[in-house]
Amino acid sequence: MDTEIDWGSLPFGYVPTDYNLRCEFRDGKWGDIEVSTSDTITIPLAATTLHYAQEIFEGLKAFRGVDGKIRIFRLEENAKRMRESAKGLRMEPVPEEIFREMCIRAVKLNERFLPPYGSGASLYIRPFEIGISPRIGVKEADEYAFIVMVTPVGPYFKGGFRNTNICIMREFDRVAPQGTGRWKAGGNYAASLGATHKAHSMGYSAVLFLDPKEKKYLDECGPANFYAIKNGKYITPKSDSILPSITNMSLMTLAREMGMEVEERHITVDELAEVSEAGACGTAAVCSPIGEVDDIDTGVKYVISKDGKPGPVTTEFVRRLDAIRHGEEPDVHGWITFVE
Ligand SMILES: *Cc1c(COP(=O)(O)O)cnc(C)c1O
Repeated sequence: MDTEIDWGSLPFGYVPTDYNLRCEFRDGKWGDIEVSTSDTITIPLAATTLHYAQEIFEGLKAFRGVDGKIRIFRLEENAKRMRESAKGLRMEPVPEEIFREMCIRAVKLNERFLPPYGSGASLYIRPFEIGISPRIGVKEADEYAFIVMVTPVGPYFKGGFRNTNICIMREFDRVAPQGTGRWKAGGNYAASLGATHKAHSMGYSAVLFLDPKEKKYLDECGPANFYAIKNGKYITPKSDSILPSITNMSLMTLAREMGMEVEERHITVDELAEVSEAGACGTAAVCSPIGEVDDIDTGVKYVISKDGKPGPVTTEFVRRLDAIRHGEEPDVHGWITFVE
């Protein structure tokens, strides 16, 4: 079948695909995996996901490799993180086997939407789980739906790989100090929309949130983890309010391979004056290099990139991860799942 998609100019948006997969947890067990061609769901009006935000999700990508094979990046880690998120929100953890099978089948069934090698585009896989038991009293559901949908997404950097500016603001927190920030919960995103809207309206691409307890340390950069290069070391914040990014985990491995020391620790705001590179990392962009961080409360501007270009470490990170994901370099760490 012919798909007339201009891969190079696809946005990071939703393009409906042919199939999605569904599985429900009822009467204490997961049922059969179902293939659906509908892009809507029917759930009770009183479902816990609608009223009490029992919703968690994942995001991972499939790539067409240089050898024509289809590779999914770090599927096991996403499956594991989703189980952690489920426990955090008192939901039913999806067994790894079900997660794996549904992701692989969703890619295979929608293969005509998988962007070709060299396009810079990929197939984004969005697994999510919702509580579907009707409840009015505040209590977790007994029944859950786990759904895997996919959608093709374009190259993140349309005008080429370049820096963006971000801001620090103390007016908003994304999450609470011992709250849900460590889990990939939809509610965290609802809570961040106000801050993000304000940052966008001021011309910034994202908010660099501070730790919600003391407002002293760097926390997360919008929906991505933050890292910086300081005196040749890779530094990244450590905190209970941060979602453990699988991209960040991968970058730490690459950084060590490249001979750098890695420090996971508190990073103070004023340390931004001493870093040679900074970036936001996540599945969407791999690394989004940061040119400048403006503290809008104090008026201090931290110019990270002196020449206005992405730094060498960030550029190398993106090159290496892209090469592994497209089969151009060997997968020495076992990060790839093939879709046969
Ligand atoms: C998904 C997400 C990330 C990035 O995680 P990856 O596994 O690298 O895609 C970072 N922060 C938040 C809040 C997220 O939801």
